[in-house]
Amino acid sequence: MRELKCSNCSSNDFKIEHGLYVCQNCGSKFVPDGNDPLKEIQRLHDRMMEKFIKDDYEKALDLSKEVLEIDNTDAYAHAIRGGCELAFGIKNYNVRTIVESFENALKYAQDDEAEDIRAFVSKQMNYSWEKLYENDRYLENRIIALTKV
Ligand SMILES: [Zn+2]
Repeated sequence: MRELKCSNCSSNDFKIEHGLYVCQNCGSKFVPDGNDPLKEIQRLHDRMMEKFIKDDYEKALDLSKEVLEIDNTDAYAHAIRGGCELAFGIKNYNVRTIVESFENALKYAQDDEAEDIRAFVSKQMNYSWEKLYENDRYLENRIIALTKV
């Protein structure tokens, strides 16, 4: 990643959140300029959605993980990750990943994304979950909350 310097405090410690550079020292937010690694996110994003729509869940899942490595606040990548895992079929080992992915998607959705993300999660959660949370009251409550978004 290109060296960036915060114009407010001169720190070069940045994280990408919601497609913006956020200075980890003072919290200033920056809109990226022209030749920027965020273009790479956009490219990954477009491919991720395209693969998901074409039911290529293996590829879509890999791309969602690539996006989340760069920006862990990307609501769509969390949503797609959950959707792919769900498409593979719910197993004991991935039920928590699915639940967490959808929770994160809702948590990180920006105002202009919220409606889209809620609709996506709601559609994905239209599934028979009951047998999956036997003996796990905490998981049950989280799943029930997701079915009501
Ligand atoms: Zn700063």
